[in-house]
Amino acid sequence: MRGFLNKVVSRSLSVAGKWQHQQLRRLNIHEYQGAGLMGKYGINVPKGVAVASLHHVQKALQYVFPSESELVVKSQVLAGGRGLGKFKNGFQGGVHIVKTDKVEETAGKMLGQILVTKQTGSQGKIVSKVYLCEKLSLVNEMYFAIMLDRTTAGPLIIACKKGGTSIEDLAEKFPDLIIKVPIDVFKGITDEDAVKVVDGLAPKVADRNDSIEQVKKLYKLFCESDCTLLEINPIAETSDKQLVAADAKLNFDDNAAFRQKEIFALRDPTQEDPREVAAAKADLNYIGLDGEIGCMVNGAGLAMATMDIIKLHGGTPANFLDVGGNASEEQVVEAFKILTSDDKVKAILVNIFGGIMKCDVIASGIVNAAKQVALKVPVVVRLEGTNVDQGKRILKESGMALITAEDLDDAAEKAVKASAT
Ligand code: GDP
Ligand code: MN
Repeated sequence: MRGFLNKVVSRSLSVAGKWQHQQLRRLNIHEYQGAGLMGKYGINVPKGVAVASLHHVQKALQYVFPSESELVVKSQVLAGGRGLGKFKNGFQGGVHIVKTDKVEETAGKMLGQILVTKQTGSQGKIVSKVYLCEKLSLVNEMYFAIMLDRTTAGPLIIACKKGGTSIEDLAEKFPDLIIKVPIDVFKGITDEDAVKVVDGLAPKVADRNDSIEQVKKLYKLFCESDCTLLEINPIAETSDKQLVAADAKLNFDDNAAFRQKEIFALRDPTQEDPREVAAAKADLNYIGLDGEIGCMVNGAGLAMATMDIIKLHGGTPANFLDVGGNASEEQVVEAFKILTSDDKVKAILVNIFGGIMKCDVIASGIVNAAKQVALKVPVVVRLEGTNVDQGKRILKESGMALITAEDLDDAAEKAVKASAT
């Protein structure tokens, strides 16, 4: 229970001051794109190029890295833990350091393949590009991040002198090594702040003043690009005394899309849950989950209650879906299509309490959707409120095989039962 509710709450409903019609979505960009942005801000990044085919791998070797003996080949997926990930084709590791003459072979095992990491879920993510980078001789790997912090209500810089591996494990094992420096968003980053961060990173060879400047540039990028997260793990130091961002995870505030058009053009829908991509297109509040009962509900509160009661009766919701108070018939059709296209869905529960939303609009949407897509699973419908009689008549006259329910309990019970048969 907690798992999926947490997911819903943290991704959808916890946005302070937001109404139920706006779902929290954050833009996530690929490492090579993040590195490109950092480069523009004067942050040290390894020389690199992202390629989508073996032909371009050859070209890159020839023109970008003519004199390198080794390169880092990095799978580009929008998830972390690539280094320790595994491809569905059996190939181990999404990040490889190889001799130049092995780059093509390594890239060949990654391109077009599915990489599974501890952050992708078991379905994994497709690698459409690999990022070829110069291999730096890293003396030391550290951790650096800037995030938005609730407690201080502003940007918070997190630094740790140990990095490279999973920060979650580090935080548990060595909590004292992690230092946090809140930044006053009005004043911006001060010299004092930047010094604290560099002291926390405790570089062994990197130039101290240069490192302070790098931290300031990272903060500038964070603010000017409307980031919600900027994480570099590892931020590393090289034998030539430089602090270098050897990885890049950048997230951006969707509410800033209007003024960050260049950045938002980088969105890669192939890396997102296809159900959520379709839902976003139809302007629906939808979050995909792992259960077997598809839910179509109006109102975020009722949607949450419906998910709860499904759980109570022994089922699991396949999604959170709030069609909202003023959904059009087309949106209802789209919503129904998304639910029916999901193979995991074994039954659909429509739970509408018509206030502003009218039951007849929902009913017409369902009937029209059923004309366009084959209904393979039982549909349980509970309608109540505005225009309920018209709604029920539309459903009845459609001749669709529906299971009708009297109240929420009855509906959930019937849906769970229907999903099991
Ligand atoms: P992640 O596993 O998805 O976080 O991918 P990373 O980009 O962090 O790469 C995994 C690991 O590869 C890093 O922690 C480094 O240890 C290593 N790595 C990446 N780039 C370089 C490099 O240029 N030189 C060396 N020596 N190691 C690198
Ligand atoms: Mn990393």
